[in-house]
Amino acid sequence: MPERILVRLPNWLGDLMLSRPLLHAVRAGRPEAELSAVAPGALLDLIAGEGLFARLHAWTSHGSERDAVLREVRAWRPDVALVLPPSFSSALFAWRCGAARRIGYRHDGRGPLLNRALRRPPRGDLHLSLEYLALGAELGARPGPLPRLKVPAHAVERSASFLARLGSGAGRLALLAPGAAYGPAKRWPLDRFAAVGCHIARRGLSVLVCGAASERAECERVAREAGAGISSVAGDTDLPLQAALCAQAAIVVSNDSGLAHLAAAAGAPTVVVFGSTSSAWTAPLGSRVRVLQHAPVCAPCFQRTCRIGYRCLHAVTVDEACRACDELVA
Ligand code: SF4
Repeated sequence: MPERILVRLPNWLGDLMLSRPLLHAVRAGRPEAELSAVAPGALLDLIAGEGLFARLHAWTSHGSERDAVLREVRAWRPDVALVLPPSFSSALFAWRCGAARRIGYRHDGRGPLLNRALRRPPRGDLHLSLEYLALGAELGARPGPLPRLKVPAHAVERSASFLARLGSGAGRLALLAPGAAYGPAKRWPLDRFAAVGCHIARRGLSVLVCGAASERAECERVAREAGAGISSVAGDTDLPLQAALCAQAAIVVSNDSGLAHLAAAAGAPTVVVFGSTSSAWTAPLGSRVRVLQHAPVCAPCFQRTCRIGYRCLHAVTVDEACRACDELVA
């Protein structure tokens, strides 16, 4: 019987993209193994296109549905559980699902639940993708080339009609992502996004402003201020469709958010503005990523809001963002 490896994936899009080196390395290191993933359903829809997992289990906030997932996973009888989220509950899930080997980082009292509990390096000493990769070492996971994210085929088809409806020409598409669920300390000012959008549009690209439904007002403001012909599609895209748009984009300009990681994973030239967090720890992975960060002495503080005026974000200028876009588009 093949080895059965359960992966409790991260709950956040950005972290999921940073776990891809581990996922591909485990697949390469254990080609015969059967892999199963547990994660929020929206993330599973996205990762399904990668073809890494034989089984996908959607994790929800409902207790009865969680119990059903636990029963399914227990019945599958995993040999190994890789626990990527830092929470106590994810380690408890691995313990309850009966995996003989439970691998994760030791903190927040999780040690007794994990029988392969690694010590986590201080935040920022190691890129998060390498922290994840270390969890797979005893499964033969080794650093290797990372393929582009495979966008689900249905999303690629939907993106063609989506863009046609908007009148946007694929191949010369630019995306702006001015949101960040984390909080204001990751959000570059909206007027700066608008100015960059205006600059890109003058170069002949079709500009779309992207975000979640909860970011609609901000995205519409950026689109309005950026000028005629620039549209907001906030709330109109699910993750697979958003990935398909990123894969076609000539440039993506984003805060340090899940969308920046998605764009980089899909191979888009990506300009990403960092504020209170550490690019050494969580910069998006990709050969065409440009990080804009001017960390003051207080950075990285990892705060969601700032008491001293968001100096880190204001230090990033429109001019340098436009220059970065020009270089990447060229
Ligand atoms: S304290 Fe410093 S690093 Fe943190 S948000 Fe404020 S300016 Fe940025």
